[in-house]
Amino acid sequence: MENVKYDVVIIGAATSGAFFAKRMAQKGYKVKVIEKLSKETLGRRLDIFHVAKMEFDRFGLPKVKKGDLEWAFEFDDNFTASPYDNYPKRNVGTIVGMHMAEYIALMNKEAMEAGAEFEYDAPFEDFIYEDGKIVGVVYGGGKELLSKVVVDCSGTASASRRKLPNDYGVENFEITPEDKFYVILRYVKFLDGKDYHHSSRGWPFYKTWIAPCADPEGAIIGIGACHSYDYAEQIYAKFEKDINLPPYELTRIEKGTTPYTRCPYSFVGDNYIVSGDAACLTKPNNGEGVTSSMVQMVIATEVLDKALKAGDTSKEALWEINVRYNEEQGADFCFTRAVLTKAVNATRDEFEYFFKKDIIFSEKFLDSVNAGPAVKMTLGDILHIAGGIISGLFTKQLSFNSLKLLIEGITLGNELKLHYLDFPSTPADYDSWVLRANELWAKVGKMK
Ligand SMILES: Cc1cc2nc3c(=O)[nH]c(=O)nc-3n(C[C@H](O)[C@H](O)[C@H](O)COP(=O)(O)OP(=O)(O)OC[C@H]3O[C@@H](n4cnc5c(N)ncnc54)[C@H](O)[C@@H]3O)c2cc1C
Repeated sequence: MENVKYDVVIIGAATSGAFFAKRMAQKGYKVKVIEKLSKETLGRRLDIFHVAKMEFDRFGLPKVKKGDLEWAFEFDDNFTASPYDNYPKRNVGTIVGMHMAEYIALMNKEAMEAGAEFEYDAPFEDFIYEDGKIVGVVYGGGKELLSKVVVDCSGTASASRRKLPNDYGVENFEITPEDKFYVILRYVKFLDGKDYHHSSRGWPFYKTWIAPCADPEGAIIGIGACHSYDYAEQIYAKFEKDINLPPYELTRIEKGTTPYTRCPYSFVGDNYIVSGDAACLTKPNNGEGVTSSMVQMVIATEVLDKALKAGDTSKEALWEINVRYNEEQGADFCFTRAVLTKAVNATRDEFEYFFKKDIIFSEKFLDSVNAGPAVKMTLGDILHIAGGIISGLFTKQLSFNSLKLLIEGITLGNELKLHYLDFPSTPADYDSWVLRANELWAKVGKMK
């Protein structure tokens, strides 16, 4: 065992781990990151990922520009369209496409410059406990590290969270195949110059989108669906039949999964925090998780800083992370997850009607689910939606069953939101809070 005792050991050196490491190292703490992969293979599971340009300042992320190794492309206009490709809703804001491996390398470098130590080819294996509390990790073939706090940023594998004892305070569930979003990205080249894409367009009914890629003559056509890659391919085939895509030639296919399930109810145990995909912090509308995890990590670094200064990193001392995360983002994500889980049951024509009448698929709602904060519904919005629904029923463009599901989604979403905003301020009342949360999630069910 190394003699040194770290303040923080982080498992996983990708976007979440590197972000947490840099912020804690900047505060002067002794930080070590252990990563299963080699430095050369780290982050290579995906080529491109997107970040909204405004998020760079919001999270103090390293900025990249055209010509940099990490930069791939930028685009400004994002549209969301109906199943018959009508009523496009425009979302504002520039999106930056970056090469994931290169950007993670840059984040690792910045964290190292801030003082964090990184060890690659170093998989987490188990915890070290003292009096039943985590005090370090075993990794890389039996090596040991002592640490005041261990942070799991190991992605969907949830390497350390899965090893927690049942009563440690953080759920140790597996992110099962049914809890994932299966994403297939087709990198294509357009056959005709007039079709080159300078903006993105999404079709929520098919869970598909088309967006620019690094090749100015090409694009990425993506689909993300629950259940399996096969199911995603079935929907894609229907999408290609229904929507008139410009002629293209396929250059390559990339596949990956992202968590699509609720977060563990608590992110903290004694001397322990879970974050990133390991904590299912992905956006409920599209499964993206790089910056939505950072919302929790900004809070976590502030609370951990306070706890380390006070010499108390118990579950109680870290609990504030749960409360503040739910207030800032978690409660709103629950609302969106519940509404979307029910709304996807609508038929193609009903989706078309929602787009036409700005019900759920309005620019306001879409902007809000993309950015994260609450959908602030005015009385005017509610009356507008109610009027659209009533008129849809009378004209038979909406069925009673779909209406019932939609109302159920909005009602459950509101109940969940209020319940998460009422998260207990200390662990004392946690068990009864969990019982009610379990009831509500059981009613929401899984995405069809
Ligand atoms: C096809 C696709 C496209 C996506 N596009 C976007 C996008 O455009 N924008 C966006 O925000 N999100 C996107 N996402 C989601 C995004 O990729 C994830 O939410 C995000 O990368 C999660 O980061 P993370 O650091 O938490 O986990 P990961 O990136 O999974 O990193 C976890 C790290 O932990 C390491 N690790 C695992 N087990 C161990 C262990 N036992 N010991 C030590 N280390 C371990 C892994 O090797 C890995 O390096 C996409 C996902 C997919 C599948």
